[in-house]
Amino acid sequence: MAEKILEIKGLKKYFPLPNGQVVKAVDGVDLELYAGETLGLVGESGSGKSTIAYVLVGMYEATDGDIIFKGDNIAKTGLHRTLKQRGDIQIVFQDPGSSLNPRRTIEQSIMVPLEIHTSLSKQEAKKQVRKLLEEVGLPSEVAEGYPRTLGGGERQLVSVARALATNPSFMILDEPTSALDVSVQAKVINKLIDLQKEFRLSYLFITHDLSLMRNVADRVAILYLGRLCELASTADFFQKPLHPYTQMLLSSVPVATTEEEKMKPVKVLSTGEIPSPVNVPPGCAFHLRCRHKKPICLREQPTRREIFPGHYVWCHLFEQKESPGSGK
Ligand code: SF4
Repeated sequence: MAEKILEIKGLKKYFPLPNGQVVKAVDGVDLELYAGETLGLVGESGSGKSTIAYVLVGMYEATDGDIIFKGDNIAKTGLHRTLKQRGDIQIVFQDPGSSLNPRRTIEQSIMVPLEIHTSLSKQEAKKQVRKLLEEVGLPSEVAEGYPRTLGGGERQLVSVARALATNPSFMILDEPTSALDVSVQAKVINKLIDLQKEFRLSYLFITHDLSLMRNVADRVAILYLGRLCELASTADFFQKPLHPYTQMLLSSVPVATTEEEKMKPVKVLSTGEIPSPVNVPPGCAFHLRCRHKKPICLREQPTRREIFPGHYVWCHLFEQKESPGSGK
């Protein structure tokens, strides 16, 4: 069993509004991450997946709950983490155009974390910039250019090189390819997979794209309105989706072969609107859209149940282990 490097317990992140209401962006999430694995975190817009990323990286402090990273609870440390903790967890954002300073050369951008997190001399740091660029598959001459001289995929690889500069063990990839042309997405994904093996990195891969998860993740977690619905190995997840919301998402994922089409859940039409995170319904947050709901779903929030080894679901249907009918 791989070493557990991150344990999130009961994580909450609330944002109070001036009118007294509260946005419950993340509302009691439990997750673990193991060394060298890719955990896919999937959810629609507003599900709280990026908020989890920003709490993990220290941009926000948690409202409640624990984040145990390599033995330390960093949930409420925010920007006051040790240099080592800050270097050890890095994030790559969706849009490399806005995360790289357009007035800095690529060399200057990658030098910043090297100056903060290493004791390299200026000459050594310049050499390291070129080495990092080569590690991510870019020619070292890119160092002298500006972000505007690069394509979207190349800019994203520069962001990855900058994240690697602090020698992290854990990287959060927040929709790292969704702003890129389809033609360069595969190149960036393949490079991320190669780097993971080379540096034994753990990834939290955030996306709304389930097809992508199938190819990159070891395990998949589904988030809805700040709460988890289902967590399983990628194989189990696609073969035996349990939660009604997961089945709804998977039934609309395009597939390449008739075999895969046969394995998809029966088409489940999306009903109802996604409620606002300011006004999350009581009980199961999904009940307004769920065709399987029972009276208890309107009153009580479901808790985590392990249905198969390592396959968890948060749904009242599984308290008696009933199946909402996956597969055709
Ligand atoms: Fe549907 Fe109830 Fe399960 Fe929620 S708990 S997904 S409402 S059956």
